[in-house]
Amino acid sequence: MRVRFAPSPTGALHIGGARTALYNWLLARHAGGSLVLRVEDTDRERSTPENVAQIVDALGWLELGWDEGPFSQAERRPRHREEIDRLLGEGHAYLDEGAVRLRVPDAGETVVEDVIRGEVSFPHEAIDDFVIARSDGSPLYNLAVAVDDRDMGITHVVRGADHLSNTPRQILILRALGAEPPVYAHLPLLHGPDGKKLSKRHGAASVQELREAGYLPEAVRNYIALLGWGYDESTEFFTTPELVERFSLERVSKSPAVFDEKKLRWMNGHYLRQLDAGDLQQRLERRLDRPVPEAAVRIAQEKMQTLDDFWSLAAFLVEPQPDDPAAWDKVMTAGAPERLRRAREALASAEPFDADAVEQALRRVVDDLGVKPRDVYQPVRVAISGRTVSPGIFESVAVLGRDETLARIDRALERAEISTSAEPDMG
Ligand code: GLU
Repeated sequence: MRVRFAPSPTGALHIGGARTALYNWLLARHAGGSLVLRVEDTDRERSTPENVAQIVDALGWLELGWDEGPFSQAERRPRHREEIDRLLGEGHAYLDEGAVRLRVPDAGETVVEDVIRGEVSFPHEAIDDFVIARSDGSPLYNLAVAVDDRDMGITHVVRGADHLSNTPRQILILRALGAEPPVYAHLPLLHGPDGKKLSKRHGAASVQELREAGYLPEAVRNYIALLGWGYDESTEFFTTPELVERFSLERVSKSPAVFDEKKLRWMNGHYLRQLDAGDLQQRLERRLDRPVPEAAVRIAQEKMQTLDDFWSLAAFLVEPQPDDPAAWDKVMTAGAPERLRRAREALASAEPFDADAVEQALRRVVDDLGVKPRDVYQPVRVAISGRTVSPGIFESVAVLGRDETLARIDRALERAEISTSAEPDMG
């Protein structure tokens, strides 16, 4: 099996392109075959070196390596010219006002035997003698693809459904060249959760954006494998070796697949929780370009869905954060400073200063005061984190340590006193 991934480098690598790359990679790995990377850069204006680098970079991040290439389609132009001349010489093509057209039989049809879609027929009546080279000599897209697939010994062409309509023309060219067409498989279209064609408004649309948003490559591989393929009715989690073992074109569906970023977030959260805390710590330190304590990583890990979530959940464990004024107003109501003072007292003597002892100390305050647990926990939470939502309060207090916790509570108490004494005395 020889497959290829043939991106046009006209922008970032999108989810659909990443899925095509993954499926080809899985097929090659499964069969012990080869994956060829061919850059379809014949549109010289849009195919910039930066775009090529972006695609190579995105494939590298997804850990989808290729065996041959990258080959530049534009650099193969002399080969394309040779074959055009041969088609002219053999009478399969002819000149028309300087352009070269392929002779398409008037009758009959070209049948694409698609592994996913079955037989799709294209009557020749609907296919004109189409242009394969412009009058300036430049080869056209379908000619270049057909010649390259043949020269590169491609056995299976696996690509997006948007290319199905090009396929009969590519088959006609291949037959005129005396080559047997490869096996074709056209992957289902991608939609957003609203049933419309996938686009920017459905969230992150490119691999680069997913990377920046803090998704893990292993989770992205798992999720995009499911965009049109399934092993059975229910299994959702596959390690990459399991995908290599189980993936087959026979189980790819022809109906559109739905890319749902919420589902990807959920799946990514699962992958994040599976990571060893030390590994996650390293990934976070690389991303944030600063050290982060492993204890903070451990408690944030339970609630994170992306790497990006770490900072919003746990920044206060790394360094004090400005208060969210809404959180303060909501929680620091009239009785709060007194409850906070009692919590401070209890924490000052909790021993050893771990999550269990912190929990016992705070629960005692709740019982002594006869209030609801949140009446004590929320003021402590706002005092140490500045927010109403954080990882587990007992664990957070334990990670901050006694000195830092008491210092933050003292600052909060001072502030509460200033704001109460600033209020006019209503008598
Ligand atoms: N260059 C085409 C694209 O990026 C793919 C062509 C092919 O796979 O045959 O959509």
